[in-house]
Amino acid sequence: MRGFTKSLPFPILLALLLLTSPGVGQEIPSPAQVLGYEMGERFTPVAGLVHYFNRLAGASELVSVHPYGETHEGRPLIQVLVASPAHRARLEEILDRNRELTNPETSEARAREIIASNPAVLYLSYGVHGSESSSPEAALWTAWDLARGAGDVAWVLDSAVVVIDPVLNPDGRDRYVNFYRQAVGVEPNPDRSTLEHSEPWPGGRPNHYLFDLNRDWAWNTQLETRLRLATWSRWSPQVHVDFHEMGYNSSYFFFPPAKPINPIFPEHILSWADRIGRGNAEAFDERGWMYYTAEGFDLFYPGYGDSWPSLVGGIGMTYEQAGGGGAGLVVERSDGSMLTLNDRATRQWVAGKATLRTAAAGRTDLLTGFAAFHRTIDDGIPDILLVPGDDPERVHALVEHLKGQEIQVERATQSFRVQARPHPGFASRQSFPEGTFLIRARQTRGRLAGALLMPEHELDAESSYDISAWSLPYAYGVEAHSVTASPGTFFQPVGELPLPAPSAGPDRVYGYLLTPGFDRMPALVRFLKDEGRAYALPDTFRMNGTLYPAGTFFLSRERNPDLDRKVRDAGLEPLVVPVSTALTQTGRDLGTGSSGSVTLPKVGLFGGEGLSSGSYGAHWFFLEQKLGLPFNRLPLSFINPGNLADYDVLVVPEGMGRPSDQQAEALREWVRAGGTLVAVGSSAQSLGRALGEVEMRSEPQEDLDREERLSRALRTREERRSDRWERSIPGTILKVKLDSGHPLAAGAGADGLDAEMFVLTRGRSFEPKVEFESVVFFPEGPERASGVISETSLERLAQSTWMSEVGLGRGSLILFAEDPLFRMFWYSGFQLYSNAILLGPAF
Ligand SMILES: [Zn+2]
Repeated sequence: MRGFTKSLPFPILLALLLLTSPGVGQEIPSPAQVLGYEMGERFTPVAGLVHYFNRLAGASELVSVHPYGETHEGRPLIQVLVASPAHRARLEEILDRNRELTNPETSEARAREIIASNPAVLYLSYGVHGSESSSPEAALWTAWDLARGAGDVAWVLDSAVVVIDPVLNPDGRDRYVNFYRQAVGVEPNPDRSTLEHSEPWPGGRPNHYLFDLNRDWAWNTQLETRLRLATWSRWSPQVHVDFHEMGYNSSYFFFPPAKPINPIFPEHILSWADRIGRGNAEAFDERGWMYYTAEGFDLFYPGYGDSWPSLVGGIGMTYEQAGGGGAGLVVERSDGSMLTLNDRATRQWVAGKATLRTAAAGRTDLLTGFAAFHRTIDDGIPDILLVPGDDPERVHALVEHLKGQEIQVERATQSFRVQARPHPGFASRQSFPEGTFLIRARQTRGRLAGALLMPEHELDAESSYDISAWSLPYAYGVEAHSVTASPGTFFQPVGELPLPAPSAGPDRVYGYLLTPGFDRMPALVRFLKDEGRAYALPDTFRMNGTLYPAGTFFLSRERNPDLDRKVRDAGLEPLVVPVSTALTQTGRDLGTGSSGSVTLPKVGLFGGEGLSSGSYGAHWFFLEQKLGLPFNRLPLSFINPGNLADYDVLVVPEGMGRPSDQQAEALREWVRAGGTLVAVGSSAQSLGRALGEVEMRSEPQEDLDREERLSRALRTREERRSDRWERSIPGTILKVKLDSGHPLAAGAGADGLDAEMFVLTRGRSFEPKVEFESVVFFPEGPERASGVISETSLERLAQSTWMSEVGLGRGSLILFAEDPLFRMFWYSGFQLYSNAILLGPAF
């Protein structure tokens, strides 16, 4: 078609254009006409997707393209709105009224009035995992069908406006598409053992920083998530579909979800997931296509693209087509059948359109349920109190997180008494100080707030799921309580949190003190980058009546030319305490020779093949975006004698197997000469064993007699599964002890507790030994705060080490049994990790 119009002489073309009045008989170009190939014949790169939607918007008055930002690699993020001219004419009014339905105080009568004339808002999200590549192809054809009024969906736009996000993860998508184009031959080869079916590290699934965006909705750590969520309340959709792919030997999955289902979801969400599933089933039955429901994909963890939208009232659903990064343009499945990209995209297209039909046909029910969801938002959800203690920056960081999720937070203008239940692990209290934060359940995002802040969520099945606990007060180390009575009226909404006022200094400033705490670390790093020198004091001390914790930094005038300017430029001014003398009241004086001298370390972070991409990405993101520390990213092949001497700190993310003898020797020599080697998770296991004779805590060996042995061996498959579940620790929150006098523990304790904090554990720990120090450890009888764990597993973890420091020559090995940066939401791990890198070389 494009070629045809090009070849027409200009006057004829003009006449044709004049003949076609907008809307009626207007030529709406198909993806094939614009891109030059039919559905699934090729992979469409992000630029091609955007090009088509712009052309479609140019040709159809039903379609508009709304850019909402750019990825780290500079690719556009867009939403495509498809709406009838009548809806488009009053779009802002429709969206305003739609938002009014999300207000719990909107009366039933007013909701009925709105529902009588408002369309539903239906949101389709494609391609969150870049290598699950069929759904963005389906997005093109779905939009075209809506725009041209294809018979099966022509009437949908009478009852709904549709938002299409064709690719949530553009960087990951193009990583996959570019790989495939490079790998495929003249003809695609269905043989799954060939290179075109084997994505190279790190694969197209994650984003630029190698985060899984389908775990990030509740944590808001990644740019794509933040930009998308910033648009969410504008649309406030009633339905959200997150299109995925699973292994190519499978079929198609749509909702209802598998168990466990978080009981926080009200009936409206579940009954509609079922209703939409039945509509999809009908479309698939008609075509004889294989599919399944209620198996494999649960609705528990709040960071998914199904659960998060459901917590804010939309029917959030995951759809999974067989395919994935190994499927290419065509793949032969293990049963000998062929699966093409066209097959995959067609099913996504059909499922998407069936969903739109079911939702549009049930518009009144859907909107009525949506309004009721919000009117009853606080059913079973308590108000939550967050109490600032000695380290108020922790609660401030948590409040900022909640504000990023558009959860309203209030603050008490006076001290007060109220009946409340402490989160397990914290002590109960009746009286709360002025400045205590309140999160009311009765607000638009109240159910989301409950999901993130309540201590515990009931699990309804012994089945696989993501993590069993995530409660944010534990993640941030903040004292929290559930209110069991009305909290009172002396609260004010929190806007901008005030920065601490700079401390009034003495006339003559001798130097500055900076207490440890993660929110100060980026400013400290800026100071170090400006050739600043800080001295970490090894013990607690008292000055001017204040007790300072071990690990407090002293910024000395003698060792820092231009000290005041450096402090100002680094943004440290509001954070430091000016002092007039080195003499303390108790403890060592500030000029002590026992302090650790902290300068900007030269840091190497290992990445690439041979390491976990997700863990590496998290460390990269943390150092670059959170701490602002300069570092080099290095391949594992860099580990050679002679290469390492320039570095002060080397970091090994998860995934390194047993080092070769040569690697172990190179690392050992470098550590002995003064290097700090930081390793996490499985790499801590392999390097700890190779360099420091550190072993993991293992399952106790049971002494079984013959009868017991036989009965164990003859367990049924079901009994074995149940036993495995009994032993697993699927992301559980436990309280751990800190060696509070250890510099690496400085600033890491939870607020309101004494030398304790919480970890999200999956059950890994080290066997303690007298040869190394346990900076963080599970005490005797470890305390479960939240999530699933059996008594057997608790006993197994008792008196084992979570973070250790192993001295080796002049250097040290700092080992984390688990990655402290897991998904970047466990704030309590940030301080320990920063300490390892900044203080590791200092002591
Ligand atoms: Zn996926």
